[in-house]
Amino acid sequence: MPSVTGDPWLLTPGPLTTSLSIKEAMLHDWGSRDKAFIDMTARVREALVALAGAEETHVCVPLQGSGTFVVEATIATLVPRDGKLLVLVNGAYGHRIVTICRYLDRECVLLETPEDTPNDIATLDDALASDDSITHVAAVHCETTSGILNPIEEVAACVQRHGRSLLIDAMSAFGALPLDARSVHFDALIASSNKCIEGVPGIGFSIIRESVLETCEGNSHSLSLDLYEQWCGLESSGQWRFTPPTHVLAAFDRALVEHAEEGGVAGRGRRYSENCRALVDGMRAMGFETLLSDNLQAPIIVTFRMPADPRFDFEEFYRRVAEKGFLLYPGKLTVAPSFRIGCIGRLGVGEVADALDAIRATMTELDITQPGSAAAE
Ligand SMILES: *Cc1c(COP(=O)(O)O)cnc(C)c1O
Repeated sequence: MPSVTGDPWLLTPGPLTTSLSIKEAMLHDWGSRDKAFIDMTARVREALVALAGAEETHVCVPLQGSGTFVVEATIATLVPRDGKLLVLVNGAYGHRIVTICRYLDRECVLLETPEDTPNDIATLDDALASDDSITHVAAVHCETTSGILNPIEEVAACVQRHGRSLLIDAMSAFGALPLDARSVHFDALIASSNKCIEGVPGIGFSIIRESVLETCEGNSHSLSLDLYEQWCGLESSGQWRFTPPTHVLAAFDRALVEHAEEGGVAGRGRRYSENCRALVDGMRAMGFETLLSDNLQAPIIVTFRMPADPRFDFEEFYRRVAEKGFLLYPGKLTVAPSFRIGCIGRLGVGEVADALDAIRATMTELDITQPGSAAAE
């Protein structure tokens, strides 16, 4: 079945398929300095802090832009210019944090594991024990490059034991995978409007420990990316410092209501897990192979190895599946040729079954009966 708006289903890591009611929430105009919009901003900030179980300890600072903008802003604001960040890397988003440090001129070390291997706690423990100059650690909860779930609770416990500050890129996990500030110690958790909360793109946010943020005046090299100043503006007037993405916030406000109606993190996580199970089972039944074993797979996006058959051309496969109403996602791995299929957005096992039908029909058209996998390069 096509979507209500006739658009293809987005089996991607975001932007995602959104509900009709979330799209409809944008059919109004708001004055950015008017009470209705100020109230909306406060409501969204409070709902996000509550989702993280952080009402007692943290504040939510939203920022205009895509997820990367707020990752960069969080590092710029929280890591002082003479600080040093250790980055746990097992994919492109960890590498992006390293690149951000280079731009911001923050000293940085990386601890890397392969893209199909979770963060290694023992080497993190050693690194923090042997280098006193490391002030902060950055970790990626679900590394969207492969779809791997990193052991964020253990990372947080290790960083806390060493008395360092943890910044979590939870962009593709927040809202679907549990992460509670009362049990996981972090100073910042970063995510955006258009992933598991199912809003439209345009807002990132950082949930920051208030006692830490209070000390961050003057750290940022950038006016527009200064989350300390953004926070002060919001606290003093309830307003965003610069033109806010009004329609995006209205959609996000509505998305948070629908997230709660679905049963919050548990409900959303359950639907995505069902989508993921159906997708993996259906693809394996066709002979496709997943990169990750099931115990490492987050129910967000699944990486499939590129079939070995030389007649399989991803561009052609993508085009034919898209014609049938489903947009897949290219791979981003360095360890093996691959492509990805997302489980998130406003879709359920019915849409996954339809997508599997479209993929099966495409494989028949291409006359490929045993996809298997290409040898790793
Ligand atoms: C999507 C994503 C980001 C941000 O990407 P943008 O394209 O800037 O929105 C950052 N980290 C992770 C893990 C992501 O999945």
